[in-house]
Amino acid sequence: MKGWGLLVFSLHVISCLVSGVSSGRTSSYVRTEFPSRDIPLESEWFAIPKGYNAPQQVHITQGDYDGKAVIVSWVTPEEPGPSEVFYGKKEKQYDQKAEGTTTNYTFYDYKSGYIHHCLVDGLEYNTKYYYKIGSGDSAREFWFETPPAIDPDASYTFGIIGDLGQTFNSLSTLQHYEKTGGQTVLFVGDLSYADRYEHDDGIRWDSWGRLVERSTAYQPWIWNAGNHEIEYRPDLGETSTFKPYLHRYMTPYLASKSSSPMWYAVRRASAHIIVLSSYSPFVKYTPQWWWLKNEFKRVDREKTPWLIVLMHSPMYNSNEAHYMEGESMRAAFEKWFVKYKVDLVFAGHVHAYERSYRISNVNYNITSGNRYPVPDKSAPVYITVGDGGNQEGLASRFNDPQPDYSAFREASYGHSILQLKNRTHAVYRWNRNDDGNNVPADTVVFHNQYWTSSTRRRRLKKNHFHLENLEDLISLF
Ligand code: ZN
Ligand code: FE
Repeated sequence: MKGWGLLVFSLHVISCLVSGVSSGRTSSYVRTEFPSRDIPLESEWFAIPKGYNAPQQVHITQGDYDGKAVIVSWVTPEEPGPSEVFYGKKEKQYDQKAEGTTTNYTFYDYKSGYIHHCLVDGLEYNTKYYYKIGSGDSAREFWFETPPAIDPDASYTFGIIGDLGQTFNSLSTLQHYEKTGGQTVLFVGDLSYADRYEHDDGIRWDSWGRLVERSTAYQPWIWNAGNHEIEYRPDLGETSTFKPYLHRYMTPYLASKSSSPMWYAVRRASAHIIVLSSYSPFVKYTPQWWWLKNEFKRVDREKTPWLIVLMHSPMYNSNEAHYMEGESMRAAFEKWFVKYKVDLVFAGHVHAYERSYRISNVNYNITSGNRYPVPDKSAPVYITVGDGGNQEGLASRFNDPQPDYSAFREASYGHSILQLKNRTHAVYRWNRNDDGNNVPADTVVFHNQYWTSSTRRRRLKKNHFHLENLEDLISLF
């Protein structure tokens, strides 16, 4: 931005700061037509790896509370085969071995392959590990990097992806994400959209696993289930919930004292990440409610300053799609988000992008006049990134006028990147898939909600990273 543009923008910033009022923006960007249909099953993007019973759909996730373990998962189609991971710090030199378990399931007329889950623990921080699964000619090799040790100033880059599906838009999102240097994906629910197929449900779970392997085999994806994972189909004789999801995708829930794989927490580098389940009971006195109450007490901002919450259904959403669906969880949990000064809440579900200002509605009372969200410095910023690119297409109808709490919104496919720089600053970007190009369309510098409060700021030495530019100003409003 140069010349007049800069001046006009600066004046806008200044006027916002003076008046304390800011206006949100609805992006006028309209993308040209780009197919939003599922990639055909015979496509090379779903290619089955060569060799008899070769492991496929390889994915890893964090395996413990602090990032010194991973869970490696994969599927063997013909027979169980060994459930072993050979690994080591040098390529082709696998001097260590971990053993896991095998499971399978049926769903209506589909019978799954053999699903392996193997915990690899006792890893060193900041280390590249190579690993091998499968045997003989069918063996496959991959690698991953462990995060830095838990430290308030550890820098780390997360990608945020939601509602991915398996269309050409999904592929585009993946390809763009891979270029960003993101080290771990925070996934906000709705994985494969396989539930849209009656007979091919399991087949579409398998194809999705093969599509995303290009990323999931090499870095952890922190999983969170969406409504498309529920798969409650009494008409097909399937009455348990989350059946394919729970068989295929593991979470390290026991490490955070959770009683269910649906909600849990992990700590990674300088972040404490809490995963909530929009589709499990969460009202007062339910297991998820008790767990969250206790997990917030375990958060230590001196060690992990960045407090991030993931859920599927957004609490603040000004799109006509799924409007108010997150309201019941807001009523249950928003008070704690404000009390514990959560930095960021990421959600999916709405197939568009939206970012809020720091606002809360904790004074809402059914009989009083207080029912509108108000600016609140202790409140998180709410970000909806349900725009991974699934076959349901975009949610392009926003409420008009744009509510005061909504800072920016746009109906395009894309993903976000969150770069934690140190204990005080993080650079955040939402990248739009601009018909094949990766375009940063929303950039914000976030100040940590714990370390940038005035008393703690004084404790920080001057030599800490500091931004004195326009982006710094942007983050103030
Ligand atoms: Zn959804
Ligand atoms: Fe969705």
